[in-house]
Amino acid sequence: MGCQGDSSSKPGRRLPEPLPELLEPARPDRPKARLVGVDVYGVGTEDAAGARVVLVFEGAPLFHQEHLPAQGILPARIAIQLEDAEWGELVPVSQSVERGGLKRVRLATPNPRVVLDLQPGATGRIFYLTDPYRIVVDVSAASRSRKKGRPLVVLDPGHGGGEPGAANDELGLVESQVALDLAELTANRLRAIMPRSRVMLTRSGDVDLSLEERCALANAMEADAFVSIHLNASSEPVRKGGVTTFVLDTTNDRQALRLAARENGTRVAEVTGIQGLLAKHHRRTQAKGSLTLAAKIQRHTLKRGRLVLPKLSDRGVRSAMFYVLVGARMPAVLLEASFLTYEPEARALTNRNYRRALANGIASGIASYLLAR
Ligand SMILES: [Zn+2]
Repeated sequence: MGCQGDSSSKPGRRLPEPLPELLEPARPDRPKARLVGVDVYGVGTEDAAGARVVLVFEGAPLFHQEHLPAQGILPARIAIQLEDAEWGELVPVSQSVERGGLKRVRLATPNPRVVLDLQPGATGRIFYLTDPYRIVVDVSAASRSRKKGRPLVVLDPGHGGGEPGAANDELGLVESQVALDLAELTANRLRAIMPRSRVMLTRSGDVDLSLEERCALANAMEADAFVSIHLNASSEPVRKGGVTTFVLDTTNDRQALRLAARENGTRVAEVTGIQGLLAKHHRRTQAKGSLTLAAKIQRHTLKRGRLVLPKLSDRGVRSAMFYVLVGARMPAVLLEASFLTYEPEARALTNRNYRRALANGIASGIASYLLAR
């Protein structure tokens, strides 16, 4: 009898291949993430109550954050330490801001770091969004005794510029245009029925505006309500359209997940760990106001819309992870006012009467919320 050797040398039996992910960290050619933009939003006015800094990446770096107290001549800082990352040539090394609690944003070494120098008393909160990967830092200026003046509403017409949103080609309807028209009609109506209120639009023309910038404006202006206005669409034929008002939260509902992915510009409708945390934070701070605002907008929009389209469906108040609502420091909702892909509603939207009815409803809902606070 010859030696049989160990079992692994038997023909037909091979050691399993190593799992590819175990090799990952040591792979020398692993592409580095690249910081391609540092955008500062919300600091258009001298008395901005906050600022939002958005770091935009190609690839997804690991990062950790440090909140450092003032020390000698150095102000309090938030440092974001990036791992396996580099910065692009076009990213400014230092941007002076001096508004909204933020003195300056600068790049630093060793290792790529982004440092936010804060004004005295300011605080910051960090989260990230995906597709493309961005790290968002919301800075709040030191709390001031807030003058209880006229309530401010920020209306956000969805999409715009290179992002037209949904469309109905047959009837020539584009979501970004219809949403802007609805927002303008709503603003006029709200000013008429509630002359004490102030109304701002996040955009007034067909311009590009990031999702982060929209909410940053509302935060910086210390708005009392933020309403993002959209039109729904479905790739499948819909038997009924309808009105839905969303608040920020996680959801397992497939339709809501698909809709949120489309509105967020992301490929997948997954709910990640960070999204759960963001939703939890929002539930803790803004949920009650957002739900009340949503219920009133939903009810009034339906009521007015039904004057023109009696069968307009009530899809209810729902929740989903809409990026545009993340970080809002006031009650914030996203309205899907009708379906561009449901024939009766799309036809009605070509008509001024229906748009005006919806806008009157949105304005009544907001006014009713503001008056009941
Ligand atoms: Zn939309």
